[in-house]
Amino acid sequence: MNGPLGTSGLILNEPLLWEQGQKGRCGFSLPERDVPESPLPEALTGDGPAFPDLSEAEVVRHFTRLSTWNYGVDTGIYPLGSCTMKYNPKTNERQAALRGFAAAHPLLPPRLSQGALRLMAGLERDLAEIAGLTAATLQPAAGAQGELAGMLIIHAYHRGRGKQRTKVLIPDTAHGTNPASAALCGYAPVPVPSDGRGIIAPKTVSALMDDDTAGIMITNPNTLGFFEENIREIARIVHERGGLVYGDGANMNAVMGVVKPGEIGIDILHLNLHKTFSSPHGGGGPGAGPVAVTKDLARFLPVPRVVETDGMYALSEDFPDSVGRLVAFHGHFGVLVRAYSYIRSMGPDGLRQASRLACLNANYVREKLKGVLHLAYDRPCMHECVFSDRDQQAEGITALDMAKRLMDYGFHPPTIYFPLVVRGAIMIEPTETETKEELDRFVEAFRAIVREAKESPQLLREAPVRCKVKRLDEAAAARNPRLAG
Ligand SMILES: *Cc1c(COP(=O)(O)O)cnc(C)c1O
Repeated sequence: MNGPLGTSGLILNEPLLWEQGQKGRCGFSLPERDVPESPLPEALTGDGPAFPDLSEAEVVRHFTRLSTWNYGVDTGIYPLGSCTMKYNPKTNERQAALRGFAAAHPLLPPRLSQGALRLMAGLERDLAEIAGLTAATLQPAAGAQGELAGMLIIHAYHRGRGKQRTKVLIPDTAHGTNPASAALCGYAPVPVPSDGRGIIAPKTVSALMDDDTAGIMITNPNTLGFFEENIREIARIVHERGGLVYGDGANMNAVMGVVKPGEIGIDILHLNLHKTFSSPHGGGGPGAGPVAVTKDLARFLPVPRVVETDGMYALSEDFPDSVGRLVAFHGHFGVLVRAYSYIRSMGPDGLRQASRLACLNANYVREKLKGVLHLAYDRPCMHECVFSDRDQQAEGITALDMAKRLMDYGFHPPTIYFPLVVRGAIMIEPTETETKEELDRFVEAFRAIVREAKESPQLLREAPVRCKVKRLDEAAAARNPRLAG
């Protein structure tokens, strides 16, 4: 297909239902009453909200039209860096919707929920194996809560050793949740500057690591899309001074089945099931951030834990060193089912292949856009590549302008202005699920936009021009939000 995918044709305006209603209009018709009339109880007839009167067709069309305003991974490429917005196979939805799972009540006694408990035990085992660690908890509802769980475990570990520590090392490329989680747990985050190659040098860690530092939180591959090559040496330095190494596994989509974090010095790792393991996300839906740990740290995992005796599964609170419970029940169960279905249907070879293709696709985009956009670090990447708007600054065009213009071409924009260490960052993570043709179209759109930045910069400043909603005043939206319709 030639030309941009974006279009403004037949995307209809959508007034609120309240603006569409007509008094007396009705969405159903009932047969004539053949019993005596009896008034509704007062509670049902009082001053409730004034619902609009609408026909069935009006309601159906309203919601169907609204659904077409949504852009998601089922619509097209969604190259947000550090998010792994990949296509999620629908078969995993099917397993998550099986009645035995979807309708199971969390308070069912274990003898009536053996299937669900067995799935949890199996998923814990598989995730621990992927992590190269020994045991796992499925409780954390997202990566950020997994980080908090990890920090609580580190806290419990140091308390157990008789001396609490006050600081945690965090690379300057880290996701904002890392320092936030450390701080939530009472630790002072200490930034670790990355070197000229976008990774952490052992000597930097060596200079910062001391007896008052509880450990390091390190993302690998990091948010610049580079593998922290010195991880073993860094882990050795941290361990030698009595600290622990927390791995942020949000970027596991680059290395699953290839690198086992536990084998390169990581003690605790969270995985984002809603990134790597087949749950759709982005609209604020439920997630899961399971945490895997070494054998020595397993006793600190949250309770209740799934335990097995002679093929029967049960939930046990009998772990006196546990950091306690993180959520009311057992995590977002549907997300866990999807992940288990994904892992079992892919198998080790499939997972490995997915990671390899994710890296290949990112490097393809990097090579194709090299010379078009400024490449922040000019070397092969893992699953994402980071450009910047440096070369467009002469025309006064920013990463935001180019991102907005991409929407006119029918593409969801990449992540911009993150990671913070790259000024005007444009961070692209194509994922393994995109075809070469889709990547080529995306690259072509970016090339056209960079040409426009030179030839008609004003157009870019006004972009998007083809979209339903044009350029928003983001500052005003943040300062004076209008929350009513
Ligand atoms: C997404 C992400 C997180 C946070 O995970 P949530 O599931 O959104 O809470 C942490 N670190 C990195 C590197 C991430 O990309």
